[in-house]
Amino acid sequence: VFNFSAGPAALPLSVLKEVQDEMLCLPGAGCSLLEMSHRNKIFIDILHDAENGIRSLLNISDDYAVLFLQGGAALQFSMIPANLAKDTGKKANYITTGTWGKKAVNEGKKECDFEVVYDAADSNYNHVPSADQYNISDDAAYLYYCSNETIHGVQFADEPTVPSSVPLISDASSDFLCRPLDISKYGLMYACAQKNAGPAGVTVAVMRKDLLERGSATLPGYMQYKNHAEADSEWNTPPTFAIYVLGKVARWLQQDIGGLAAMEKINREKSQLLYDAIDNNSGFYKGHAVTEARSLMNVTFNLPSDELLAKFVDEAGQHELSALKGHRSVGGIRASIYNAMPTEGAQALASFMNDFASKNG
Ligand code: PLP
Repeated sequence: VFNFSAGPAALPLSVLKEVQDEMLCLPGAGCSLLEMSHRNKIFIDILHDAENGIRSLLNISDDYAVLFLQGGAALQFSMIPANLAKDTGKKANYITTGTWGKKAVNEGKKECDFEVVYDAADSNYNHVPSADQYNISDDAAYLYYCSNETIHGVQFADEPTVPSSVPLISDASSDFLCRPLDISKYGLMYACAQKNAGPAGVTVAVMRKDLLERGSATLPGYMQYKNHAEADSEWNTPPTFAIYVLGKVARWLQQDIGGLAAMEKINREKSQLLYDAIDNNSGFYKGHAVTEARSLMNVTFNLPSDELLAKFVDEAGQHELSALKGHRSVGGIRASIYNAMPTEGAQALASFMNDFASKNG
């Protein structure tokens, strides 16, 4: 079955098989990884391997820490303003292009002064702003945005423009590792793993080291990035299994796929198959995102009626195309085609869409 779930989502089959092979007894360990101390050298090597895998995929320099955190992406909505804006006298700036940006604003408000410099709500979040549509002052604490809005299927093609004094912060939960990026443009990029990088339970934060110092010592210990960086992501027990799988996914991306440029090429081909099916069926399907903001990862569209929508989901299921129903706040269909979705999955869905439109249009 091709699984189009928005997350937790499909993992590469070869990674699942390796995990299965090693589940009862990790090579060299005499026990399962699930039974091993996080202080064991074997696990510490696994953690460093995962970190190095991400560093090499994204070409991350030593100026950045790579942290493995818990609390999902959602805890970052609070940790970011608490560390980087609270009590600084500066305003945190937000661009909101969908549900996840909005949630980050709602949590951020509790921690610090803030300003939403652009909100795409009026269009029901179908686009991203161009640089001349928002203003960021030189002394903003940071600019926060979500690079890919998972529910609306809206993705930034490039980073927003910020003054050099303002750290750029991105929630990359649903497009982490989908294409190459210049990390040096960012103060902090974070992503929960369960969409594009591994199982639920770990959130990766890539943070410029000078920003680690900003968190006040009065914050709860877990909330301070600095504690995690100083303890090599072992300030408390880290999610060992999730980090282990994440490391395997990073290796799969590097060795089997050939790195992020190769991954981007495949992701563009997969998404184009679905966008062509939306565009080339005489208006039967209505895409949610405007063309320039279409996501490589979450393809969202609607059908002419609720009856046809229900029929589409039902018949797709019979064709082994699962988890296509859109999020309740947008409706319609959402096909999530993260890195692990093979091109054959996108081909199968595109051909089903063409067939369905010709029979029901
Ligand atoms: N940000 C984005 C872009 C997401 O897609 C999600 C989850 O779907 C989250 C944040 C929240 O992640 P978590 O459930 O790990 O807190």
